[in-house]
Formats: sequence, structure tokens, C-alpha cells
Amino acid sequence: MTGLTDLGIAAIRDGVADGSVSAREVAEAYIAAVEAGRPLNAFTVETPEHALAAADTADAARASGELKPLSGVPLGIKDLFATEGVDTTAGSRILSGFKPRYESTVSGKLFAAGAGMLGKLNMDEFAMGSSNETSAWGPVLSPWRRKDGGNAALTPGGSSGGSASAVSARLAPGVTGTDTGGSIRQPAAFTGISGIKPTYGRCSRWGIVAFASSLDQAGPMARDVRDCAILLEAMAGFDPKDSTSLDLPVPNWEAALSSDLRGKKVGIPREYRIDGVPEEIGRVWDHGIALLKDAGAEIVEVSLPHTKYALPTYYIIAPAEASSNLARYDGVRYGRRVQPEQGGLTEMYEATRAEGFGAEVKRRIMIGTYVLSAGFYDAYFNQAQKVRALIARDFDQAWASCDLLLTPTAPSAAFGLGEKMADPIAMYLNDVFAVPASLAGLPAMSVPGGVDGQGLPLGLQIIGRPLDEQSVLDAGLAIEERSGFTARAERWW
Ligand code: GLN
Repeated sequence: MTGLTDLGIAAIRDGVADGSVSAREVAEAYIAAVEAGRPLNAFTVETPEHALAAADTADAARASGELKPLSGVPLGIKDLFATEGVDTTAGSRILSGFKPRYESTVSGKLFAAGAGMLGKLNMDEFAMGSSNETSAWGPVLSPWRRKDGGNAALTPGGSSGGSASAVSARLAPGVTGTDTGGSIRQPAAFTGISGIKPTYGRCSRWGIVAFASSLDQAGPMARDVRDCAILLEAMAGFDPKDSTSLDLPVPNWEAALSSDLRGKKVGIPREYRIDGVPEEIGRVWDHGIALLKDAGAEIVEVSLPHTKYALPTYYIIAPAEASSNLARYDGVRYGRRVQPEQGGLTEMYEATRAEGFGAEVKRRIMIGTYVLSAGFYDAYFNQAQKVRALIARDFDQAWASCDLLLTPTAPSAAFGLGEKMADPIAMYLNDVFAVPASLAGLPAMSVPGGVDGQGLPLGLQIIGRPLDEQSVLDAGLAIEERSGFTARAERWW
């Protein structure tokens, strides 16, 4: 499967435009890769007809000189995005059989820009998880394996695990992800690819199954920074159907890409050096610092004093919002209904939700309902909102002395399937470096920084000022150009 599936987004776009590549052949190559990649369980639905139709449109458009920014580019779409007429389950049994009659704004924009859809990507149920193991459709396997770990199956991370695995295994040149508390960045880090969560409000949330509305953001995942910039440009933009969408023009991020960081200050937050994190994570971080220095950036130490409260704050706010958002799955309006023989409406609600939701989703609904209950609202939810403001203020103050922040993306490399499922707290700790930027609504990206002793990828996170995706992408490019990261998972599937 070499050749056409080695082409990323920019290469496909440019090749289709200059006639050196046929969009139809690219689509066929990726469709074959998706079929061969089934052991990874990355896709929940395959839609080859959609990818082929877009490819034929692209080849015809070249002939008539009407190419669009993504003409001929086949993509995978995370199953959290509503896709018209195509199963959309959010990784949950409760939505099995749900075929939306509408298209999410973001996937609609990608298709309007000429992209085709290879299929829908597996994910943690309702995007709750860090390993893709909470999916009702089974875990996604990472294409990566430990050097001396036998054939132990590793997680691609989560919740955008199908997205990460598909890009890393070259089943798709690029995909959509969503990130509420790290779900683009952590899987990107685990699989040696790049992914960016833009500023909250850049991408419309309309038609994305809601998890925690004040945190959810869509973003791209791809093989390199340029491809992320291209996809993000097509995904972003004002949408009157989302009240939190930002009414701002979409910059031409790709055209402005520059890895020359002279004049930029990069802050290194000292609170991110936490105990118990493997030494290799610190080593990759130091390596990243050196690379940014080499690109001309000035490195400064900064303090984000409320960092240690970010994880508990996130795990109050996100479940609170989730418990409210998930109230709509009642067996009446969407997907699955379970009607017990005895009983009426209440029993139908109970049976539907008992059978439809998995254990992690139920845990979140219970936590969320608890922290919002009359007796505990002030002690938990209200308090968490206040701490969230302090975390955001830490960043505001840091921007007085730097333009960007560099941290590790995750506290470990990919772990084995089953290793953390029995311990929710261990699972939640995955998000320790990712959630502060989410709570503050900041743009943040993960790019590969190096590999650990087992040959597994480790990611570096770049966090930027609100709306400054450009500087984040530029720093990502600087790391990409200098890190010499070329590791790829060896094909076993
Ligand atoms: N792992 C985090 C959680 O389980 C983040 C998920 C996400 O960003 N969607 O909530």
C-alpha cells in the first residue's frame, strides 16, 4: 500500500491541480487502505461511494478549471459529527441506527470545499475517555507497538482514537477530531501525528453531538502542520447557528506559515514539571525547548499557579455540562428505544438509558447530576467555575511575558489496552497537561517531539494566545522541521 496513500493533503491537492495525480485513483487507494485497515477498528462506517463521488467531481473540476481548496482530498470524519443520511452514533449504543437529516456545519464546510468522506471514525462514547475503550463499538487499536512488548495492543488515545489511528496508519490523509479536554491532542501525541484544537468559537459546534458545550471544539488531525493548517481553514468560520461561534474572518494560515521564530518568546510553565511523570517526557520537552531556540525563539520561564486545580475543575465542569446535554437521549427523539413490557413512559426512559449508555457515560451523568444538585451546587459547580476563571487568568498573566507556551502533550506514551480501564482516576490523569488550555478556550496543538525507549511517539504541546493559531502552527512547523521525527508504525494489520 505504498504510493498514493503516502500523499498527504497538500500533495493531493497540488497533484490534482497540476494533473499529476488523479483524484479517483487517490480515493481508490485510500478506500483499499481503509478496507485493509479493518483490524484496527478505526472506522464505524465506510462510505466509499461518498469519497469516489467527490473524487470524480474533483477530476471534472480540474478539466473545467473549477477546483476548490480540498478538491480530491478524501477525509475521515469523527463519528461525533452529524452526517446527513450516514449513521452518526457518537460511539454510543443509544444512537445506534441514527441517521441525521442534516449535516454538521464543519463536515458540510469540508465537503463544500471539495473533500470526500471515506467513513465515520470510531471514538470513545460521547467523547468521554482517553483510550477509545469506552466506545460501544469496541476499542480502536493503535498501529504502533512497543519494540520489545511482543504484540501487546496499544491504545491510540482518545477520544478521537479512530481519527488518530486512521491518520497514523495512512488510512486517511487527514480527519476531523474534537477536543473537549485533550481529545485531539492526546491521541495525536500517542500516534505520532499532528492535531490542533483552535480557539473556542473558531469552528462551529452546530451538528456536533454535544459533550460539554463550553469546552467542545472541532479541529483537524493530519500527518503534518501544513495539512492541519489547510484543513483548519476549511473547517473554521462564523456560523449563525452556533451562538458561541466567533464572527471573525478566517485567516489564511497556510499561506502565512513560517518557522522563523525570531522575536517570539516561548514560556515554559514550571508547574507542568510534575512528579511521577517518566523521565523521557522531560527529555522530549527539553529537546523541544532546544528546537524552538534554534528557530530563533527566546525561552522564558513562566508560572501558571493554578495548574494543579485544572484537572479536578475539568472533571466537575465537563460532567456537569454532559449530564445536562445527555438528558435529550430519552428514547423518543433519537436512536434507540427500549420499551419494557410492563410500565409506561418513565420505565421506557429508564430502560432506554440503562441499556443505551455505557459505564463511563453513566459515571459522568451521575457526577454531573451530583455537582449540580441543589445541596452541592455551590460547593462544586460554582466553585469550579471560579477556579476556571483563575486558570484563565493565569494564562492572561503569562501572555505579558511570552507569546506561546511549550509543554508535553501527555504524561506518558501510549499505554496498553485494558491497562487503565479499571481505574478512572488513572485514566483522567492522561488529560493533566491538556485541560488547562481547554478551560481557558485557548488554541493548542500537539506535534511529534520524539520517541521513547520503546520506539513510541511522544508529543509536544504548543499553547497560544486567543485567536493566535498562526503562532501555534508556526512553532509546530519549527519543531517539525527540526525534530527529524520520521518514525512510522510498521504495518502488521
Ligand atoms: N479524556 C477527556 C475526557 O474523558 C477529554 C475528552 C475530550 O476531549 N473529548 O473527558
